[in-house]
Amino acid sequence: MRIVVTGGAGFIGSNFVRKVVAGEYPAFADADVVVLDKLTYAGNLDNLAPVAGSPHMRFVQGDICDAGVVDEVLDGADLVVHFAAESHVDRSIEDPMEFVRTNVLGTATLLKAADAAGVAKFVHVSTDEVYGSIAEGSWDEECPLAPNSPYSASKAASDLLVRAYHRTHGLPVCITRCSNNYGPHQYPEKVIPLFVSRLADGLTVPLYGDGENVRDWLHVDDHCRGIALVAESGRPGEVYNIGGGTELSNRQLTSLILRSLGKDWSSVEQVEDRKGHDLRYSVDIGKISGELGYRPLVGFDEGIAETVKWYIANRA
Ligand code: NAD
Repeated sequence: MRIVVTGGAGFIGSNFVRKVVAGEYPAFADADVVVLDKLTYAGNLDNLAPVAGSPHMRFVQGDICDAGVVDEVLDGADLVVHFAAESHVDRSIEDPMEFVRTNVLGTATLLKAADAAGVAKFVHVSTDEVYGSIAEGSWDEECPLAPNSPYSASKAASDLLVRAYHRTHGLPVCITRCSNNYGPHQYPEKVIPLFVSRLADGLTVPLYGDGENVRDWLHVDDHCRGIALVAESGRPGEVYNIGGGTELSNRQLTSLILRSLGKDWSSVEQVEDRKGHDLRYSVDIGKISGELGYRPLVGFDEGIAETVKWYIANRA
């Protein structure tokens, strides 16, 4: 079996590749993996160092918007797991163009090639941010899309293209929508690696607005296990939410990080809130739990402690 993983040098994609190559998902134990990644500022080949020498992993540097490269890489593929994206909300507020190019045009380029190659499954990794913001309760997969940032709008657009390829061409797609991931190997612009790195350097950390925005935290290992379940047994044309079950306000998260590094609130600088900052995200994971037996296994206390340790030990 051949699996093409786009964005496999990034935070979540590299975790998935390392696990597949290490044989951690029985359904894909003998798979050969081809990673297609442009190596933007967020991609890092060091993330793949543990599997770089494996005969079951091949790396191709290329852009998912480049139809020539995409056609070549997808030829003979059985499964595509599509992680590649511009993923940082703040950057999309500064300039949305690269988000539209990679997330929308890039996804369309992959879908067209996947259809031509006749792949058996196309898993599109999306985000809970496409649902917008929810004050109470949780979103199930039937909730309407109401994205609020240029990032989430570009992801919602890509979700709709994926859906359309299923309806129009019968491409066997699944869409996953996950909450905020944490774990090792994340580019230090996102809150956890940013805060840990700055605190370790004796610097202050910037907390947006009143810090009351709530996120559900999902360990990257749990997320990738959920993706593997969807890749193996998800029903074509379906959407599956993946969550971690730990809701925290940014203020609570900051407290935990401060404590784990022996710091106090004097290290925190309150900064102007992000424009259009969504108040709360919360996904209902009943569908993936009921159909595929998914449940998060990494407890947040243990997961965050290991994550903080990893960033301290891997400053470079
Ligand atoms: P990341 O920014 O760490 O990695 C993205 C990877 O995609 C990088 O390796 C980058 O080089 C590559 N890439 C970017 N543009 C490309 C292009 N045009 N062609 C080929 N490769 C390109 O992102 P991540 O945090 O690992 O997120 C992976 C996926 O999960 C994304 O689709 C993102 O929207 C989604 N997601 C992430 C989170 C999260 O908490 N990190 C939450 C929900 C959904």
